[in-house]
Amino acid sequence: NDIVKFEALSPAEFFRRNREIAGFSNPTRAIYQTIRELVENSLDATETFKILPSIKIYIDYANQSRSWISIYVEDNGIGIPGDEIPNVFGRVFYSSKYRIKQHRGIFGLGAKMVVLYAQSTTNTPILVRSAPLRSNVIYEYQLMIDITKNEPVIMSQRTMENKYGWHGTAIRVVLEGDWSKAKRRVEEYLRRTAMVAPYAEFVLRGPDEDDAIKIPRVTTKMPDPPKEGLPHPKSVDVELIKQLIQKNPDLPLLEFLTENFDGVGETIAKTFIDFVGLQPDMPVGKLINDELINFVTKMREFNGWRRPRADWLSPIGEDILAEGVKFVLRPEVVFTVTRKPSSYMGNPFIVEAALAWGGAIEPSDNPIIYRFANKVPLIYDEGNDVIRKIVDEIDWTQYKVKFPAPLAIVVHICSTKIPYASAGKEAIAEVPEIESEVRNAIREVARKLRLYITRKEKEQELLMKYAI
Ligand code: ADP
Ligand code: MG
Repeated sequence: NDIVKFEALSPAEFFRRNREIAGFSNPTRAIYQTIRELVENSLDATETFKILPSIKIYIDYANQSRSWISIYVEDNGIGIPGDEIPNVFGRVFYSSKYRIKQHRGIFGLGAKMVVLYAQSTTNTPILVRSAPLRSNVIYEYQLMIDITKNEPVIMSQRTMENKYGWHGTAIRVVLEGDWSKAKRRVEEYLRRTAMVAPYAEFVLRGPDEDDAIKIPRVTTKMPDPPKEGLPHPKSVDVELIKQLIQKNPDLPLLEFLTENFDGVGETIAKTFIDFVGLQPDMPVGKLINDELINFVTKMREFNGWRRPRADWLSPIGEDILAEGVKFVLRPEVVFTVTRKPSSYMGNPFIVEAALAWGGAIEPSDNPIIYRFANKVPLIYDEGNDVIRKIVDEIDWTQYKVKFPAPLAIVVHICSTKIPYASAGKEAIAEVPEIESEVRNAIREVARKLRLYITRKEKEQELLMKYAI
């Protein structure tokens, strides 16, 4: 008869209890979040491999009296190997994206949240159909999650002949939700996604006859996919170093540095080892605790590293971004900029901005802001976002803007590590390096706007002169 009872909680159980931290806080938000997670997986599975994305989203009432909704999302991506499907959808924190490379997904959680939410509200399994590239079969599974074990439960399984050489993934889930309320959010989400991915096409078909939207592909130009990278020496912590040492404790310090980190050649490695006061041929496994901590502290302090490489990133690019913004917002004019790579704590990042002016943009008292992180639109939580703060700090009269004005600002941050303010991935936390790049990007496009307005004013003056 203990007074206090102790127990462990599985990751699946944790997220079942705390689903709001992953964005599944209510039935409306759950639909939005489900579609978002599935669409983001689809976009990762296509554009990361330079496939022009075609994504279909079908919504239906599964049981109207109980407000059960079925959501179907299909893509033409690289598919999932058959034997990985159960873990990918049935084990929280299972992912192919725990890599140094820009992705929409980062936590290895989204697909599992969808399954957890579906089974917690309707007790129905997820249906997955997938065919990897060049696969001659299509795999089909019905899956649930054993929540206490954090393991997939296979309810049924079969393979079908892949007659037409299809590749991609299709998913159907039934969950409790309010489509009529979620609809506008979902449409807005797709509109914004199209803004930064004009090379994708989307079909959204709702449960009612007239309830369909089609977002066409506006360009076949795609950004180059990201490459996979190594950690930058400034981004490490003691635990990471310990893990790397364990893999090969006999490796001499010099090779340890040149093989495991981004941009560390022999010369830089030697200078650094000298800076720490160790020997290049010392086996890395011999570092004792204090030395190890000192080693890591010095890695962060050392100023001789190269700047982190940005090959791990895949910015949208000025032209593609301009096309997307033009298509979605229909402004009179749009200016875009892709800034040079920068970094915070060893994580490379790039800021892009677009400024759209006039045309179909409704005049408002504040600039309308569209925020994106790794090409994901951020819709909720604008008040907590550093981008909002920066836009509010700018003195727009400097750029000849008098409110109310038809002004929209688009900011895209891409990084191997986006500093999200929460697991729902809706707001960017305050990081000084990012703040300053965002400010510079917005100023750059704002200056172009000022020039444009000035030129128009002059034209107007001339016109007046000749009119008289
Ligand atoms: P994350 O996207 O953060 O990795 P998810 O739980 O959303 O986490 O997905 C887990 C993994 O499942 C992904 O890393 C990916 O390998 C695979 N996956 C999910 N959906 C798809 C899809 N539509 N096409 C290909 N692979 C997918
Ligand atoms: Mg995901």
